[in-house]
Amino acid sequence: MMQPRTVPFINYPQLFLEHAAEYTAILQEVLGRGAFILQRDVKEFETNLAEFLACKYAIGVGNATDGLTIALLATGIQPGDEVIFPSHTFVASASAIHFIHAIPVPVECGPDHLIDVDAVEKAITKKTKVILPVHLNGRVADMEGIEVLANRHNLRIVEDAAQALGAKYRGKCGGTFGTAAAFSFYPAKSLGCFGDGGAVVTNDAQIAERLFQLRDHGRNADGRVTMWGMNSRLDNLHAAILNYKLRRFPQEISRRREIAMLYHSFLSDLSSLLLPSPPNAEAERFDTFQNYEIEAEQRDALREYLQQHGVGTLIQWGGWPVHQFRELGFTQTLPRTDLLFTRCLMLPMNTLLTNEDVEYVAQMVRRFYQR
Ligand SMILES: *Cc1c(COP(=O)(O)O)cnc(C)c1O
Repeated sequence: MMQPRTVPFINYPQLFLEHAAEYTAILQEVLGRGAFILQRDVKEFETNLAEFLACKYAIGVGNATDGLTIALLATGIQPGDEVIFPSHTFVASASAIHFIHAIPVPVECGPDHLIDVDAVEKAITKKTKVILPVHLNGRVADMEGIEVLANRHNLRIVEDAAQALGAKYRGKCGGTFGTAAAFSFYPAKSLGCFGDGGAVVTNDAQIAERLFQLRDHGRNADGRVTMWGMNSRLDNLHAAILNYKLRRFPQEISRRREIAMLYHSFLSDLSSLLLPSPPNAEAERFDTFQNYEIEAEQRDALREYLQQHGVGTLIQWGGWPVHQFRELGFTQTLPRTDLLFTRCLMLPMNTLLTNEDVEYVAQMVRRFYQR
């Protein structure tokens, strides 16, 4: 039996303190250059990110919610058009749809907690224009199924890849399947900065041109306004931090996959749990484990027990899938998602964890079910 210890869900100060000297040097250099808005660090990060994802264009934006908004706008979507998305997502996926006067249509997720392709098909109407899959927990949705539906019904795909930087399906990065996709660099995301940040990506030159203008007041390369635009630019300071972190990101992903493997080896024999598919279990997928989201019997009691023993856990979105926010006008009934939200729980998953931390968390989970 291991000694009691504290394993917070995430240790925010440590995200900075871990490499405080390097980050401070970057901040001083960039600030001393007076490079605040849309300077060379943003350009460099956009180039590096596009290269990392093997896509043509990346555009730094203020956050992924704005990224989804301008990605949807760039598709030419019109007021009243319907956009289908999974209810198991952050409300931001839906609010991006709402604020361009389109209609968010939430659907069920499948056993892997990602958008269910059959549910998407059932939700398609004459008004549907876009399918918006969410690559949750660092795992890419079933893009083959989504692409078949999009082609058959002449729909666009806009991907919410906020949680999936570097995750792959059949060798291709999540975020590079559709017309455009948004990534988030919120601090708790696997590639996080020290505030809000995001990016939109596309392989289409015309869409890219629109995205560059939409994030910067509708201005083109000559500074002339040729369309309505927003102010949503990735801070140059954050771009410099992200450039530094992107270089180390492949190791970050390997470590997350290692931790997932550890959890799997410690917990997979427990019949009270359903675990995510372990790394390397599926040849066509490369999951990056933004989160380690399990399903657990007696979820709330388990959570309480872990809390009492120093282990921080989280239920995604505060415990409510989007369709349960009736105040926003949703009327759908999604029993499978409702059931999932009585069972889902996220165990600590980040690169500040040691192997001993992971083993301790697993031991506490085992102890709860063996009482
Ligand atoms: C974090 C997140 C967002 C929002 O990202 P921001 O950068 O905070 O706007 C959107 N969708 C999902 C699935 C997320 O996890």
